[in-house]
Amino acid sequence: MINKIIPEDKIQKTKKLIERSENIVITCHVSPDGDAIGASLGLYHFLDSQDKNVNIVTPDLLPSNLLFLKGSRDVVVYTRYQEFAEELIGNADLIFCLDYNTLSRIDRVAKSVSISSAKKIMIDHHLDPENFCDIIISHPEVASTSELVFRLICRMGMFEELNQCASEAIYTGMMTDTGNFTYNSNKPEIYFIIAELIKKGINKDRIYNKVYNTNSVDKLKLNGYAISQKMEIFPEYKAAVITLTQEDLKHYDYQKGDSEGLVNVPLSIEGVIFSTFFREDKDFIKVSMRSQGKFPVNKIASDYFNGGGHLNAAGGEFYGTMDEALCRFKEILPVYAHYLND
Ligand code: 5GP
Ligand code: MN
Repeated sequence: MINKIIPEDKIQKTKKLIERSENIVITCHVSPDGDAIGASLGLYHFLDSQDKNVNIVTPDLLPSNLLFLKGSRDVVVYTRYQEFAEELIGNADLIFCLDYNTLSRIDRVAKSVSISSAKKIMIDHHLDPENFCDIIISHPEVASTSELVFRLICRMGMFEELNQCASEAIYTGMMTDTGNFTYNSNKPEIYFIIAELIKKGINKDRIYNKVYNTNSVDKLKLNGYAISQKMEIFPEYKAAVITLTQEDLKHYDYQKGDSEGLVNVPLSIEGVIFSTFFREDKDFIKVSMRSQGKFPVNKIASDYFNGGGHLNAAGGEFYGTMDEALCRFKEILPVYAHYLND
């Protein structure tokens, strides 16, 4: 048995809302990652098994390494099927908001969700949830939203109904949001849940291969180039930064997701506990940050880069040139130096 983390009244309210609803839409954040898609598909397969009319709407495309998950090709991508997505949201009696805590994280989908009269349930693990849902199941202490979806289904007394498709999706989210169980992953119950998912028929080794061993040659070369030519280390601040400009990306025929995970690499250098990656997008520079220990990258992301996130994994956007972004990064280092000794 696992501990009851989600309050009982929220479980019962959620159960009632699901029972009462016919048309359900699941939404998750822009540039969906393994956890956003894992949680969405986990809940989707569960609700589908309860004969609900359920759809997933994502703000933009799924990364290709998640397309092995059953149901991923039925996801309604807003940028592709805007009208259909708006119709689904407009007709929904219930909307789930998964793996995000503020409407700004669903980008263009925010308008239709905010004006919809549907009941809304947030299931999320980011700090400081905004108050736009009828039920807020927010647990920053839990490593993934997918784990919360598992806990919710169990607590509704529906563990038996959890099928293999849902289990695969949930495992994928738990795996990706912990870097294959290398961070945020020291709670014993995580492994109890994994054991239950394996009993449901998932093959965790296959899932790892599908998610992580699908690199293209260009992707690997881009990452190699970034590390050998575009990484700068600041030993006195235990920090590292990697930059990739539009020109770099073009040279290696960059595809969405090709720099996923790159920001983690400098943390593998002994003595580095703070890593930042700047990638030049069309309209802004995408910022990704990772840290170890108490170094609060979510604070840096919200104070300096119009973003947010978790203590050890955060991101945001910088409006300016790459040189200006680097300048800002270098200014931040001494300001946060006192966290290095904690
Ligand atoms: P990543 O570096 O993988 O893009 O993002 C890591 C984490 O940082 C995400 O799970 C999310 O919590 C947060 N994050 C990334 N980008 C943004 C952003 O633009 N705004 C906010 N508020 N959070 C972000
Ligand atoms: Mn997540």
